[in-house]
Amino acid sequence: MSVRDYAEKDYYAALGVPKDAPATDIKKAYRKLAAELHPDRNPGGEDRFKEVSEAYDVLSDAAKRKDYDETRELYAGGGPRFAPGGDFDVNDLFGRAGGGGFSDLFGGMFGGQRGGARRPQGPRRGSDLETSTTLSFLDALAGSTVSLRLSSEGACDTCRGTGAAPGTSPKTCGVCHGQGLVNRNQGAFAFAEPCTACRGTGRVIETPCPTCHGTGAQTKDRTITVRIPAGVSDGQRIRLAGKGSAGNPPGDLFVRVTVLPHPVLGRKGDNLTVRVPVGFDRLALGGTVAVPTVDGHVTLRVPPGTPSGKTFRVKGKGVMSKKGTGDLLATVEVQVPTELSDAERQALEAYAAAGAAREEVPS
Ligand SMILES: [Zn+2]
Ligand SMILES: [Zn+2]
Repeated sequence: MSVRDYAEKDYYAALGVPKDAPATDIKKAYRKLAAELHPDRNPGGEDRFKEVSEAYDVLSDAAKRKDYDETRELYAGGGPRFAPGGDFDVNDLFGRAGGGGFSDLFGGMFGGQRGGARRPQGPRRGSDLETSTTLSFLDALAGSTVSLRLSSEGACDTCRGTGAAPGTSPKTCGVCHGQGLVNRNQGAFAFAEPCTACRGTGRVIETPCPTCHGTGAQTKDRTITVRIPAGVSDGQRIRLAGKGSAGNPPGDLFVRVTVLPHPVLGRKGDNLTVRVPVGFDRLALGGTVAVPTVDGHVTLRVPPGTPSGKTFRVKGKGVMSKKGTGDLLATVEVQVPTELSDAERQALEAYAAAGAAREEVPS
């Protein structure tokens, strides 16, 4: 989220809550809207969903909300009101902004001007971030809401990105008069070189901010809650647009997902796989077999004479994702008993004895 976003967007209106709404109301409003607008349920409503998510992202975070409120207040008066010392001349700033609007204006104000200086918050696109998360096999199939802890560089909270200690503001450099460049005469030539007093920024910070030591930037940890879509597979990289570093537009967040194996179920693309141990008698005679699925069991009918290793397709019991629904591939495997009761042993011996006669029958 950039300062431009803050200045231009009404996050309270986006969530339909008053400006003094308590955090619980904000959460409630968001949940209701998010459920209504979720793209899975409401195709085409993605812009509005994004708007609501963005609003919630800011208003649910006390520090961000304070920052937002302050930025809005700053702008409600029609322009920057700080720096009564006159270092920020509104007309001058508008002149420099070149008609580019809020983002250029704030880009100049919150970072150094004229290059050279860091611009922790400005009109540049925010950088992309990458992180990872691990899901259980079933959570990956169902989709899951996860909390991700992210580190990114943003404007320092203490000085709001100016680099100057609270109560002070950067001064126009007295050597270059804010130009960032000084002219030097060398023989017949005159040329401009970066001002060494201000390192080309045009401004000097007399009392650096104690938090960021004058850089205006701060590494910030934040925790965001994101929805990993249903059907994500192991090793997949998911792009969450606009969830990266602050900027205009904000960068994207890439989440690499690790999916843990399941003791029973496996996966082949959109199909799930399962191995089902079945007694020899049932494969030979035919019968029903209980096959585990993601949600309970289904009954599979195997015909008489089913060979071990045969795979049956259970329609629609595979991976469900936006792309569609896969099948469950159930492979039956002969289970050989390791212990036999007397009755079982006698029956098998009789079977084996009968086998000689059976083999004489031409197949
Ligand atoms: Zn600072
Ligand atoms: Zn200078």
